[in-house]
Amino acid sequence: MSSTPLPTTVGQRRPLGVTPVGVDVGVKNLIAAAPADGDVESAFTIEGGHIRTRHEALVEAMRALQGAKFDSTEGQIQLFAALWHQIRPQVYDAAVRVVRYAQEFAGPMLVLEDLPFCDAPLWERRTASDVGTWLLPALQHAIAAKACDAGIPVTYVDPKYTTQQCHVCGDLGSVSQDAVECTTEDCPVGTVSRDESAALSIAQRAPSLTFKRDQSMKPVHHD
Ligand SMILES: [Zn+2]
Repeated sequence: MSSTPLPTTVGQRRPLGVTPVGVDVGVKNLIAAAPADGDVESAFTIEGGHIRTRHEALVEAMRALQGAKFDSTEGQIQLFAALWHQIRPQVYDAAVRVVRYAQEFAGPMLVLEDLPFCDAPLWERRTASDVGTWLLPALQHAIAAKACDAGIPVTYVDPKYTTQQCHVCGDLGSVSQDAVECTTEDCPVGTVSRDESAALSIAQRAPSLTFKRDQSMKPVHHD
């Protein structure tokens, strides 16, 4: 047993009328989202297979160009721009859909993980074989921008153990590729889908009283 205290996920007091909606961004599922008091089965998801396939093609082509005997910078720029042109609408479409999902709840507040992204621009990461290194920041940025357009506050929470932690009892479960299993005696959770479970844990970490808005967001005024 680890003695490190776990982030609190359950039982946080929140202002009345606010519904924190947790959003887990990823590669297999671009998005899994759920309200803090929701359940795994009714979580909202958007699958990411299409983007993954395009990204794999990009990485392969970039590496081929970089291995060329001529200066291929211009070619790399064009290829990267073309791929981003294909993927960007899907990233923004996913963001629009998750914001719309959040709007189904009273007083929605989007909760994202405060992920330690590498600061290098997308361009410098163009041959990174892990699609997540640029897809995840792009997704989070798009979600924050679309939430801002819709006047929905966004808050960022500690990402530690959001995947492993059981959204009901708060203990750490065992994680496999698609699932997380809570083995705590008497906990009714059992084995659940991991991204959806992470979305619930993220939502439950929403701060109790204050929202930290994305730095780039304009303040939202309610009369
Ligand atoms: Zn549990």
